[in-house]
Amino acid sequence: MIDYKEFAKAELNRVIPIQNRFKEEFDIDSYTNWFYDDESGILRLYNNDDDEIFFKYIPIGTFSLSQKTWMWSWLNNSLVVKSKIETLKIKQFGEENQFEKLTTGTFPSDEFDGWEFLAISQKVLNGIGVYKINGDKLNYYLLLTEILNPDGNQEIIKLKQKIVDCGYHGFKRPAFICQHLELNSSNGFEEAFETFPGMDLDEDDDFSAWCDECEKKRTECDGWNDESEEFAKIKLICEDFYFEIKESNQKIT
Ligand SMILES: [Zn+2]
Ligand SMILES: [Zn+2]
Repeated sequence: MIDYKEFAKAELNRVIPIQNRFKEEFDIDSYTNWFYDDESGILRLYNNDDDEIFFKYIPIGTFSLSQKTWMWSWLNNSLVVKSKIETLKIKQFGEENQFEKLTTGTFPSDEFDGWEFLAISQKVLNGIGVYKINGDKLNYYLLLTEILNPDGNQEIIKLKQKIVDCGYHGFKRPAFICQHLELNSSNGFEEAFETFPGMDLDEDDDFSAWCDECEKKRTECDGWNDESEEFAKIKLICEDFYFEIKESNQKIT
């Protein structure tokens, strides 16, 4: 049986030159900002809109800075299944080799473990490089699997529209509703155009909706003007909240 410590150390040493080449090739350290999106599994590194690079990633796991614990993504309920399913192969690899750290979902750990896990993931899942995101509460360990061409890539267009963080759903695209629409109210749901969750939006389009009373006012006023807008008092929310509100307010006839 292979000793885990020896194995992990060797894997880390194997990956260091790969990672150095990767960082050099894509000039990774030149980007000061990051944004990652669990739904699409895309990492954006950028300085501005003209200076950016996109990678597809697999979320390997997180390290909690307060609890000093590691959690494998396959155990993490806040991640969508599509993004984390691949990490089960690391668990399986751990089972085959009886490496307890690869088969236990969460345990007391340190930041160094995470780098070894990334190195092992690179071997098992074939990554081109790795990336660690230093969050306020968590460090995120990502395995990068391919570089993406942003030209005409709908997932990337969508990702760049995600600029609203309501505090509940993470970063999402903005949406606009009148003051009378609430979760569990039943006030009607008039939309600027027909919508469905996750749909692509043109650059000039926003999710926007208002209630039956606002629609009445809008008709009286011949459209949106100072008076009808004052009545509606449109507010900004996130797209997830928008579709929750739509569910209870729309009247199906
Ligand atoms: Zn939200
Ligand atoms: Zn209204």
